[in-house]
Order: sequence, then structure tokens, then C-alpha cells
Amino acid sequence: MPFSFLAEELKLLEDQGLLRRRRVLESATGTRAVEDSREYLSFCSNDYLGLASHPELIAAMQQAAVQYGVGAGASHLVSGHGAAHHQLEAALAAFTGQPAALLFSTGYMANLGIVTALVGRDDEIFADKLNHASLNDAALLSRARLTRYPHLDLAALEKRLAGSKARRKLMVTDAVFSMDGDIAPVPELLILCERYDALLLLDDAHGFGVLGADGRGVLEYFGIASERIIYMATLGKAAGVFGAFVAGSAELADYLVQRARPYIYTTAMPPSLAAALVASLRLIEGETWRRERLRELAEVLKQGLTLRRWRLMPSTTPIQPVIIGANEEVLAVSEALRGLGIWVPAIRPPTVPKGEARLRISLSAAHSPEDVARLAQALNELEKLPNRRGRGGR
Ligand SMILES: *Cc1c(COP(=O)(O)O)cnc(C)c1O
Repeated sequence: MPFSFLAEELKLLEDQGLLRRRRVLESATGTRAVEDSREYLSFCSNDYLGLASHPELIAAMQQAAVQYGVGAGASHLVSGHGAAHHQLEAALAAFTGQPAALLFSTGYMANLGIVTALVGRDDEIFADKLNHASLNDAALLSRARLTRYPHLDLAALEKRLAGSKARRKLMVTDAVFSMDGDIAPVPELLILCERYDALLLLDDAHGFGVLGADGRGVLEYFGIASERIIYMATLGKAAGVFGAFVAGSAELADYLVQRARPYIYTTAMPPSLAAALVASLRLIEGETWRRERLRELAEVLKQGLTLRRWRLMPSTTPIQPVIIGANEEVLAVSEALRGLGIWVPAIRPPTVPKGEARLRISLSAAHSPEDVARLAQALNELEKLPNRRGRGGR
């Protein structure tokens, strides 16, 4: 049996409460998801601004599909780069206040492309321990030396920067950490990068559209700008569609077009997605009420929870994790919530450190304060039940 190791590995994962299963949604709009004909109040989506099913985005996508067809047909460097992509890049550059922007098909690919194009064998990457997997994979693929420092530990980072003899230094960090919801101290990181002549790559997947008065992201939030910063963000989260981009100097964009392999050797995103994203940018900028609503909902959650054993992490972003601890218990709680018609994902190792399994509550501007109050109430009651230990599950 050449593949018997597969069954053994799967069994092992199941025994550890680590087996992952997918759910099939019949429909999902805004904050309601339907599975097996049952509707759930969902706190799973990264659609923070509630734009993924917005009529203006849908209309823009439909129109573009008629005009351009549904597929780009080729990579950007062959014949896949259409007017819709070009217009979106110009809009992203203007929106982020950077000279140029380059579109990638996904955030995962953008990170692989940026990092592998900028550093190699003689270089060193400095990375926060809680960075997104795509940044770690990018570092491994680049063959640069990868030095990870404890989460937000600036003193540890400085020590490592000071000791480095690398040709080029690249500091990489999530701007908003995807499983904790906390914000990286970007001004302090920038000071260190200046002191030790390092470049700073910011992955603003969860800040773009959300942070800053106009939703321009982490740089607007801190009111900073620097030629050292490479700004990258994804377009499948708050922007509600799909894709990613990097913004910076015109030379950076030109260089990545030459050297970023995940840019060069992949099909361009469908032009209809680019058209939907142009519409999305207008709404992100214009509808500030969506960001105000998110802050209001985070407050409703915090005020509504009366947890003793479990712990709501201190987060001011739409990512509001509740630490439960053991894998089995977080699965049992997630299942119990499902029984109440509420869907909150259980996040387990290796996505988060061992013993820190959690519910990852994602708030959306499409939620009502009543939705969030209902979730808080359900969690308060479930915590009081005897410590449940479910098995297996999702
Ligand atoms: C989601 C995410 C990515 C990957 O973006 P995709 O467009 O989904 O591939 C990269 N970095 C961070 C921090 C993310 O949260």
C-alpha cells in the first residue's frame, strides 16, 4: 500500500483534535451563511466592511464580464493585462498615496513575489513570530537567512538587527496580526529599520480598508510615510473581492514586474474582479460609516462579555479572538454555538501556538449591534456549562 501513510497521518490528526474539514455553503451574503438549509449568523468572514455582496460591486463585475469575458486568458506580461487591471493599479496608487501599485492574483503570491525578488542567499529577513504563513513561506523560498523574533519584542529584534552581517536586511511584519487582531508598532519598527539600514515590508491584509479615517490602512493610522517601506495589502478581505497589491516607488513596481516569479508565471486575475475592485475602492473611501460601525460593534462585544475562564484578547480591530485553550474545548464551544445558529471558527495549532486555541470572531460592518449582543450572550452562557470535551469535528 504505497499511500498507507496518508491514512495514518489523518488518524493522528483526528486523535489530536486537529483534523480540518471544509463546510459547503449554499449561500453566503453579508453576515448570514446557509449550510444544509440552515441559516447561521456568521462571524467567520474577513469581509470586514460588508462589501463582498454589495450591489455596486456585483454590477461592476457583471458589466466587466460582458465587456472582457470571464477570464484574462494569459499572464500580465503576455496579453492578460487589461484596461481594468491598469485602471485599478492607478486607483490603488492614488488611494494609498504611493507613486505606483502592482496587482497580484493573491496575497500569498504577492508575498512570495516581493520577498523572493528583493532578497536572496546573502541577505537576512527579520520576522515577527506571529507573521502570516505566506511571509514565512516566502522567506524560506528566498533562501535568505530567516530570523524570527518573539511577537512585538522590539528589544529582541534590535539585538538581532545589530548582530547581522547580511548584505541586505528585510524586516517583514503583519500590520494587523491575523489571529490576534493587534497592530504592529510600525513607527518604532521604522526607526529600527532606519538605524540598521533595513527595508520594511508591511503586510496590511487586515488593515487595508479598516484602519485610518479613510481606510487607507496602517500608514494612515500612524500618519507615517517612508521610502524604506514596501506596502502590501490584500483585496479579498475588507475590499470584498480577491487579489492583492504592492505599493511603493515606480522602480519597485518595475523591478517586481521583471523579477517576481509569482507575478510573471501566473494568469492575470479576471478583469471583472479588477472592475469590481475599482468600485470597492470608491465605497471604502466614501463610506466612513462602515469603519465607525466596526468600532461600535467591538465595543458592544467587549461590554457584553462577562468571561472568567476564557479571555477576550485586547484588540481594537475587527478581529476579536476569545482564547479558550485546549483544542477539544474550542471545538466543543464552536459546535455548541452552531447548535444555537451562530458560526464562529475554532482556530487551532499550528495556525496559533499550542495551548492557545481560540474562537476567532470577525466583525463586519454588516453586523447589527443586536447580532453581536446575541453572540456575547451565547458565549457567556456556554462558558458556565461544565468543561465540555468534544471529539473530532471540524
Ligand atoms: C489573508 C492573508 C494573506 C493572503 O492573502 P490571500 O489574498 O488570501 O492569498 C497574506 N497575509 C496576511 C496577513 C493575510 O491575512
